[in-house]
This record gives sequence, C-alpha cells and structure tokens, in this order.
Amino acid sequence: MSSKDWIEKDYYAALGVDKSASSDEIKKAYRKLARESHPDHNPGDTGAEERFKTVSEAYAVLGDEKKRREYDEMRSLFGSGAFRRGARGAGQPGGMPFDVSDLFGGGAGGGDNRFSGGGFTDLFSSIFSGGGAGGPARPRGPARGRDVETEVALDFEDAVRGVTLPLTLRAPGVCDTCHGNGAKPGTQPVACPVCHGAGVTTRNQGSFSFSEPCRNCQGVGTIVEEKCPECHGTGGVTKTRTLNVRFPAGVADGQRIRLAGRGEPGERGGPAGDLFVQVKVRPDELFGRTGDDLTLNVPITYAEAVLGTDLRVPTLDGTVTLRVPPGTPSGRVLRARGKGVVRKDGRAGDLLVTLDVVVPAKVSDEARAALETFAAQTPPAAREHLDARVRRFS
Ligand SMILES: [Zn+2]
Ligand SMILES: [Zn+2]
Repeated sequence: MSSKDWIEKDYYAALGVDKSASSDEIKKAYRKLARESHPDHNPGDTGAEERFKTVSEAYAVLGDEKKRREYDEMRSLFGSGAFRRGARGAGQPGGMPFDVSDLFGGGAGGGDNRFSGGGFTDLFSSIFSGGGAGGPARPRGPARGRDVETEVALDFEDAVRGVTLPLTLRAPGVCDTCHGNGAKPGTQPVACPVCHGAGVTTRNQGSFSFSEPCRNCQGVGTIVEEKCPECHGTGGVTKTRTLNVRFPAGVADGQRIRLAGRGEPGERGGPAGDLFVQVKVRPDELFGRTGDDLTLNVPITYAEAVLGTDLRVPTLDGTVTLRVPPGTPSGRVLRARGKGVVRKDGRAGDLLVTLDVVVPAKVSDEARAALETFAAQTPPAAREHLDARVRRFS
C-alpha cells in the first residue's frame, strides 16, 4: 500500500461511509460488505473477490485510528491542491483529481445503495469548500443527510388544482430489534473463536507475514450465534417513512420539486438532505394543457360554422357557453378567459377551444339534394393561386 494508493483510492467510498463515520459505523459497513463479497460465499466470482480485496484494504486503513488519521491528512492536503488543478479545466472530467470509478464504484456492489452517494458528496464538498468561484467555503460539520429522489404520478386535475399527497419513502436503516448488532434479542455477538476477537488473521509466506481479515467472522471479530429474526443477522432493515407533500396548483409534467430538508436525516445532528420529487402528470381524456392554458377540441358541423351557434362546453369545474360567430373557419380557437390553471397568486390561464369542422361520411338523399342546391349557389373556393403551378404539369 503506497501513498499513491492513498491519494487515488477513496476508502470511505469503498466502504460506502461518510468521512465523519464513527469507527463503529465503519466496522459495521465493512462487516456487511465483506460478508456480501466474501469468496466463500461467491465461489468463482472474480468480481466479488476484487470487491472483497478492496473492502479489506479500505478497512485495514480506516479500521485503524492512527492510519485513518494519516490517510485523512494526506487526502485533505492532496484535495486542496487538486482543486486548483481541477479548476483550470473547469467542467472537464479530465480535470478531476481522482479516478471517478474509485469514488463511485465501491459501496454500490451489494445492492444496498444507502451510502453509495458518499463519493458524490465527498467530491463536491471538496470542490466547493476549496473557495474561489464556488462561493463562500462551507464549514466542515456533521455530515449532511443524503438527497433523495423520487417520482410521483399525479392525475391531470390534481396537477391543475394542486394537491397534497402522502409519499412513502423507503431507505435502509438500523434494525431496531437488535440495534444493528444482528443478534437475537437477549443474546450477544460472541468473540470469534478463530481470530479471538482481533478480526484479522496472520499468514506467513516466506519472510513476509500478511494480515488479512478473518474469514470466519469476516473481520468483525465477533460472530452472531443466534440471528435477529427481524433483520436475519444483517443488522439492517428497510425503513419506510411517510411525508405529506404539497403539489402547488399548476404543477407541470416533468417538473422537479425540491423540498429542502426532507431528504435523509443528517448523521449526528447534521442537516438533512433535500427531497426531489419528479412529477409525472397523467393525461386527461378531454383536456390538454399548454403552460397555464387548458386546451379542448370541439367538433362542429359545417352548417354551425357557416350559420354560427352557441356552444356549451365543459371546463374543469363547470361549463361555459361560447359564441361561434357566423362564418367561422375550421381550426378557429375560441378563448374562455380565466378557465385554465388558477395559480395561488390569482394569475389564471384560459381555456382554449379549437373548433374542428367535421364532414359527415354519409348524408341522406334530402341532405344531398339540399347540399347540391347550396353548391350551385356558392362561388367556388379561391384556388387561383395554385393554377400557375398546376399548368406547369399539364
Ligand atoms: Zn436485527
Ligand atoms: Zn474471526
């Protein structure tokens, strides 16, 4: 393990923990990842073997208070220099000081993604706390909780009028039954008989001796004899929480709503992350929407277009009568003011009614006779502007 390793490798990301994680949290994250990627559990899986090595290497440093301090120091020194270098190629991935796969790759292997955002947080906090263009430096404090992304489908009318909906979010958390130690209530994890609680075993090879995480206890130092029935010995469970989220009137399909401080809670009193809700609006069978205007297509007959009529059409919360003046062309848009989306501040869109002259596929003999009479008394449609082009081909 060289200092280059230390600079290039993000051991926190490898274990999926925050930089401010306690030694217990580090131990627990390591225990979980080591168990998942252990070669004994994944025979022949070289990917798992690689992960197991990475995780073990990370724990060898972070699990040792003295080494961890040295590692932190080296990383923060390098990080500040790296920021200046990165700033030159602003926005260029090439300007990134670290191998990005190192930052993001580590913790995500086990399907438990709770911590896999750690790489992002670390990367961006090191960029933004470096000063310069990024605004005032953020003081280091307890870790901020993760941002949470979720998606919600709203009914068309709810989106127009605004609605408050309960939103259920799932996130991994510590098992309440065993408080995360994985042991059945009333029992305790016991010291591992192989490593006698050290968590590491030593292997001699030639003149070298290698320490490696104990395979019996996956480096934890303890084993669980009777598993907690709630979490099956993993110490973690999926927790759900429910939030009431207010969607304002006029929220649009594709809009992303940010609820500050409604993401995951921070660690040890740190500020909570934000909740981002991506909105999908289900289409309505009658109405469409353009911004704050509602749209509606209304078929009318040729006679209605020629003679004029009054049309009673639905709005979202009632009806409105629109005057179709005599001689209205097909495609004309009539406007019912204020019958669209009404915003909280009172601004309102309109209902835009597009008139669609329909042509009957069949007519009665009487209607045909009347239409022929009508045609005989009507000047032909103005098509002179087409004649020159038609003549070119005749
Ligand atoms: Zn449990
Ligand atoms: Zn052991």
